[in-house]
Amino acid sequence: MPSRDKAIDNRIHDVMMRCEKLAASRANFNSDLVSRRNQRRPRLRHVGLAGHSDDEPIDHCPHGRRICPVVLDCIRIAHGIHDRRRGHRLRGLRKSGSGDAEKNKNYVSHRESALAVATDFMSNSANHNWSAVVAAGPSASSAVADDAPATVETIRHLYVHIPFCARICPYCAFYKDLLDRSQTARFCEALLRDLDKQCAAFDISAKTIYFGGGTPTALTTSQLEFLLEGFHQRLDLSALEEWTIEANPGSVSARKAALLAKLKVNRISLGVQSWDDGLLKILGREHNASQAEKSFHTLRDAGFRNINIDLMFGLPGQSTEQWKTTLEKTIALLPEHISAYCLTYEEDTEFFLRQSRGELKANPDWDASLFEMTMSILEDFGYEQYEISNYARPGFSSVHNRAYWSGEDYLGIGPSAFSTVGMRRWQNLADYRGYADRVLSRQSPIGSTENLNSEMKRAERIALLLRTREGISAALLNDRPQTIEEFVGLSLLRQSNGNFVLTQKGKSLADSVAEAFL
Ligand code: SF4
Repeated sequence: MPSRDKAIDNRIHDVMMRCEKLAASRANFNSDLVSRRNQRRPRLRHVGLAGHSDDEPIDHCPHGRRICPVVLDCIRIAHGIHDRRRGHRLRGLRKSGSGDAEKNKNYVSHRESALAVATDFMSNSANHNWSAVVAAGPSASSAVADDAPATVETIRHLYVHIPFCARICPYCAFYKDLLDRSQTARFCEALLRDLDKQCAAFDISAKTIYFGGGTPTALTTSQLEFLLEGFHQRLDLSALEEWTIEANPGSVSARKAALLAKLKVNRISLGVQSWDDGLLKILGREHNASQAEKSFHTLRDAGFRNINIDLMFGLPGQSTEQWKTTLEKTIALLPEHISAYCLTYEEDTEFFLRQSRGELKANPDWDASLFEMTMSILEDFGYEQYEISNYARPGFSSVHNRAYWSGEDYLGIGPSAFSTVGMRRWQNLADYRGYADRVLSRQSPIGSTENLNSEMKRAERIALLLRTREGISAALLNDRPQTIEEFVGLSLLRQSNGNFVLTQKGKSLADSVAEAFL
């Protein structure tokens, strides 16, 4: 077990070594789970064991041996490895203790002067399915509750994964597959069959529904109609505040937009990524800038008053000027919500291979300066940074994402989707054909299950809430007065309304700060 007072990068290394040894000695341990990040889930994951049969609980102490320290954020682990490969971007905040406060002080001031800030706080992979739902109304603007959530009988949040994409983007590590029109109708049927099963098992009163992917709008208008009508028929939607659908500008049409609006979808998350055609080509996107603009207006014309635009920075060949222009162009369209993610080179992607071959190169210092520019420009134009990668006009922050961050229960429908209810988390098979086969033959589509404990939940809450504007209640951190004092002294944390929140400087080191509290 790595010592918890070691520098974070060393601990990551130790954990990975330990996992690899276990993989060699245990037939059913799949170390791929440690670093694979292509499933949709809240940001933190735990190491699990592969090869278990359906619905078989997996705990974290197989044969009495704990296989990893409390919570592992796979994204950070992967970044830690990449960082060492590049010899760059190592994290070094330590827990308070003899001599470590001084080391942290040096570390922060070194990072500040070098502007060598970590960028995993805004990775696209971590947030792709988080560009969430907006709704005007009291809950949209209320603070994220940070008391431990009670296990509720009623499920209020649904995530639906639609994995089809017209093209596969070379940087994308999510679970997705090339659009195959011969499969989509059967797939939609399977989703509704799965929903039937969930309705029988849980009391569902949906407050938010989120259709992510993949590309949900890759389905035809009639398939979307079949699916959405099916949700209306099966669910009590009287308390629905937000229904988001992710849309690709290449697959938005006036007819589709009108249908979505008619069937109560009230928020669209549009994957624009850039307004530069050259960069869109590098990203392998299906659309160009003028299509994206047209799609935005089509959605507005259909009546959508709550649109998120997804953007990416830190792209190969992207200049500071190009990013500034992209932000300005986005602001000029007046979307209610903007998500700005930094490109990360995820394993199992073409970009990762190209980076390994030296054809593409990450530049964290430059990423950090773009991040600072993003915060400054968007806040100047009235977009509140309510989470590290998410900015919204007042009243338009994401209810769906806030529910994740505050630890509320949710159900996931579709291949690779995660669900968390009480102390149990499970994930469906990440294979849409297998998922549909199982659901349609009345078998469980669950691929793996985890039992959570209160320490895991607490760790998740700290890591997730720390990224939010409201921060974490002092009560949740009251066992770490020394660490708090130190981070306040380093100007990484400050107090606000009884909570601890990251400062601007702290946002650049969000994961390191969170790690120190775990
Ligand atoms: S459209 Fe989105 S989900 Fe599909 S490959 Fe591109 S980034 Fe991935």
